[in-house]
Amino acid sequence: MSMVSWWSCASLHIRCAFFISLAVCATRGATPSNEVNLLDSRSIMGDLGWIAYPKNGWEEIGEVDENYAPIHTYQVCRVMEHNQNNWLQTSWIANEGAQRVFVELKFTLRDCNSLPGGLGTCKETFNVFYYESNDDDDRNIHETQYNKIDTIAADESFTELDLGDRVMKLNTEVRDVGPLTKKGFYLAFQDLGACIALVSVRVFYKKCPTVVKNLAVFPDTITGSDSSQLLEVLGTCVNNSVAEELPRMHCSAEGEWLVPIGRCMCQAGHEEVNGSCQVCKPGFYRSALQTRTCSKCPPHSFTKTEGSTSCQCEHGYYRKDTDLPNMACTKPPSAPRSAISNVNETSVLLEWSTPEETGGRKDVTYSVVCRKMNAELRQHEPCGSHVRYLPQRTGLSNTSVMVLDLLAHTNYTFEVEAVNGVSQLTNPLRQYVSLNVTTNQAAPSPITLVKRGKTAKNSIAVSWQEPDRPNGIILEYEIKYFEKDQETSYTIVKSKETDVVVDGLKPSSAYIFQIRARTSAGYGAFSRRFEFETSPYLSASRDQGHVPVIAVAVTLGIILLALITGFLLSGRRCGYSKAKQDPDEEKMHFHNGHIKFPGVRTYIDPHTYEDPNQAIHEFAKEIDVPCITIERVIGAGEFGEVCSGPLRLPGKREIVVAIKTLKAGYTEKQRRDFLGEASIMGQFDHPNIIHLEGVVTKSKPVMIITEYMENGSLDTFLKKNDGQFTVIQLVGMLRGIASGMRYLSDMGYVHRDLAARNILVNSNLVCKVSDFGLSRVLEDDPEAAYTTRGGKIPIRWTAPEAISYRKFTSASDVWSYGIVMWEVMSYGERPYWEMSNQDVIKAVEESYRLPSPMDCPAALYQLMMDCWQKDRNSRPKFDEIVSLLDKLIRNPSSLVSPTNRVSNLLVEHGSAFSSVGEWLDAIKMGRYTKLFMESGYTSLDVVTQMTLEDVRRVGVTLAGHQKKILNSIQEMRVQMTNATIPV
Ligand code: AMP
Repeated sequence: MSMVSWWSCASLHIRCAFFISLAVCATRGATPSNEVNLLDSRSIMGDLGWIAYPKNGWEEIGEVDENYAPIHTYQVCRVMEHNQNNWLQTSWIANEGAQRVFVELKFTLRDCNSLPGGLGTCKETFNVFYYESNDDDDRNIHETQYNKIDTIAADESFTELDLGDRVMKLNTEVRDVGPLTKKGFYLAFQDLGACIALVSVRVFYKKCPTVVKNLAVFPDTITGSDSSQLLEVLGTCVNNSVAEELPRMHCSAEGEWLVPIGRCMCQAGHEEVNGSCQVCKPGFYRSALQTRTCSKCPPHSFTKTEGSTSCQCEHGYYRKDTDLPNMACTKPPSAPRSAISNVNETSVLLEWSTPEETGGRKDVTYSVVCRKMNAELRQHEPCGSHVRYLPQRTGLSNTSVMVLDLLAHTNYTFEVEAVNGVSQLTNPLRQYVSLNVTTNQAAPSPITLVKRGKTAKNSIAVSWQEPDRPNGIILEYEIKYFEKDQETSYTIVKSKETDVVVDGLKPSSAYIFQIRARTSAGYGAFSRRFEFETSPYLSASRDQGHVPVIAVAVTLGIILLALITGFLLSGRRCGYSKAKQDPDEEKMHFHNGHIKFPGVRTYIDPHTYEDPNQAIHEFAKEIDVPCITIERVIGAGEFGEVCSGPLRLPGKREIVVAIKTLKAGYTEKQRRDFLGEASIMGQFDHPNIIHLEGVVTKSKPVMIITEYMENGSLDTFLKKNDGQFTVIQLVGMLRGIASGMRYLSDMGYVHRDLAARNILVNSNLVCKVSDFGLSRVLEDDPEAAYTTRGGKIPIRWTAPEAISYRKFTSASDVWSYGIVMWEVMSYGERPYWEMSNQDVIKAVEESYRLPSPMDCPAALYQLMMDCWQKDRNSRPKFDEIVSLLDKLIRNPSSLVSPTNRVSNLLVEHGSAFSSVGEWLDAIKMGRYTKLFMESGYTSLDVVTQMTLEDVRRVGVTLAGHQKKILNSIQEMRVQMTNATIPV
């Protein structure tokens, strides 16, 4: 569509055909969204109301487009005349608050060269001006009042030829005006002699249009007055949203939004959908802190309303304060399961399994409630604060606890409760498993206070208090004393009272005292050291200073001799140490621990009785047959069946017992041997030694009645429960056996046939040593084999010196104990598997030893290896074994590192050195030998267990020496476990 106009160039009287091209029509397009028109000459339907002066200057050409809408075109073409100054002034244009506006001009301009003769006066530019005013009254503006915007030149001018071709060259120029300070303005176009057609004038300002960004609405914003200015605009959060950080954006001079900062977030219970916040549906929730979208309610929770910020727990389920809303609702745990107890004297190891139902939580902990049975009131009462719990009583995360310092021979009930994070939120329905435990006999606790009484130059009186926990009737006290710094030469005095006067001391000398109590359960630990000093010499005796020393030495020597002689004589007379007992005080002297005097209770070999019946009635109680009911057969012994059934003794509660019978047709020797076991057993009273209830000798069958051990013999029990126990439980069993053996060795009894098959286990997993006998023990043991020297010996369990020359001692029992440890840790595996006895003897002689059982902690295997020292004096004593096992039980982390060697290969034992001194010399640290000896590191096996702390404690202060010693210890450890030979 084209528009045609005839352009009359009045001053030249030229009529020019002029095309207002299609392009003109085409520019009537939509205004961009970020531009707001203040004036658009093409959109004004009626009169523009513009003023031209002089009158013969600019003139309006009235044309219409195809829609008959007027096209306001102003033209001027007075190119041939001098001094042209033609003004065209627009009507008042309100600026609507914009401080910077744009003027877009569309025009055509005639090329002066194409005009005949007009070159002298013809111009090819025109000027644009503006004048600001607050209202539209200022119609008569003087030229000088205008501000010039610019001089406009055409990019394209046209010639007559162009007209002929009907090619229209329309120019578009845009200028900006600002900063504007008043409400509006006028524009004016000054022509100075050009041939122009001003086709359209559009005046607009730019804005940043309304937009929603980051859930904030930013309103229409007029751009700033400066072309480089960025206006900061605050956004408003959309409905149901809140500012997380104040939302802001920047409106550029070009009407573009830039640099969004901050944002709004949908409120809890709502989620963002396409820039708005929509409510969460029932069954869904959104908490303010969480994800952007609504989430389905977590397990065991629900919501029935819209816009939920969290979900409610189902009945019986709970949420802890600190649980996040996205966590499932949980419930308290069920009770712990399979609780078992392991009693060791006055401590109990409680163990249990995790509850079947943890309630959906991982924070299950356990606590223990201890109640003691008050025998007089026949009711339970709290255990009191003296009871200790390892690691603690409440908040236990592991499924075991050690309860210490209980009373001996007392019934306790333990309740093990499981709780989790929501337990307090529910009704106080405690979930617990309960266990009844009876503590065993225990040695007295240490004496805590020793006081000095009257002191003279040669004597000191000391007194002390009974131990806090005597755990029985105190039979006597043992007072050990020695001159300060002379510990290797000490004296022991016994007393039934809680005081004693020690004489024969040096004047003006410090003495160290340690006291311990003894009950039928044995000795308690020594008290700490108390130091007291004798009075000084009187001046009169000063010059006889050395006499008392000699006198004391001579006196001690005489006493020592007298005691030894007395002891030997009494032994020879009747073999019964009771004969020399019960002096109120006994005194014994020790040097380096080598001379040992018997304690009060010593094992008496029944053989020493001429009449075996006398022995049996001395040590065993005769039981009336009607008190015993045989209910079932539980095993077969060498002499007859072993049965079980209830024993009802008058005035005592009924207990279940094991009944060993002597089969009919026995010989007198068999009867003696059979009852010999009871004569031995009856001398013992220890929780880890099978307890003899009594014998039946006056009727037939002859019977031995012992406590009943529900789980039978240890080897079968372990095989039946392969892999079922925790290491702590196994160590608990071993500790019990060691404690029983300590008791036997203290009594001077050598067992000779210590093996898992000869240990019995009760329902509390307490292990007790059994199978006592004389020579017959070995004769009866199917494991015992004849040696070249004649006797029958259980080769696999027996120490080499006992095999070679029948040297049976407590040290050979320690060797057997090491084998029992191996049996226990391997759940009843046969030692040395199917090797022949001859091969076992040979391998052991060649220093090969059993390898570590599977998953056996290194500390335990090390102890086994120590028990298998060739030199029997280097093997640990049973009391050291008990202490070590106690230490391991108290510190279960020491039991976590298993030895990684698990094979059926024997390992080579020992190191290249035969003594600590030799070793220290070899590493040029010989100077410390004395310190090592004094601190008790007398064997290489003890040395190999030393830590840096131990080395420091010995007195090695130089860091370099500590390092050298530790490195060498490490090497020895490796050597001891490295070499292997195939079986
Ligand atoms: P013994 O003759 O002592 O070796 O006993 C033979 C078998 O009887 C043992 O291996 C046990 O299985 C069983 N037995 C012996 N004494 C007891 C006891 N006190 N309690 C339970 N079972 C026992």
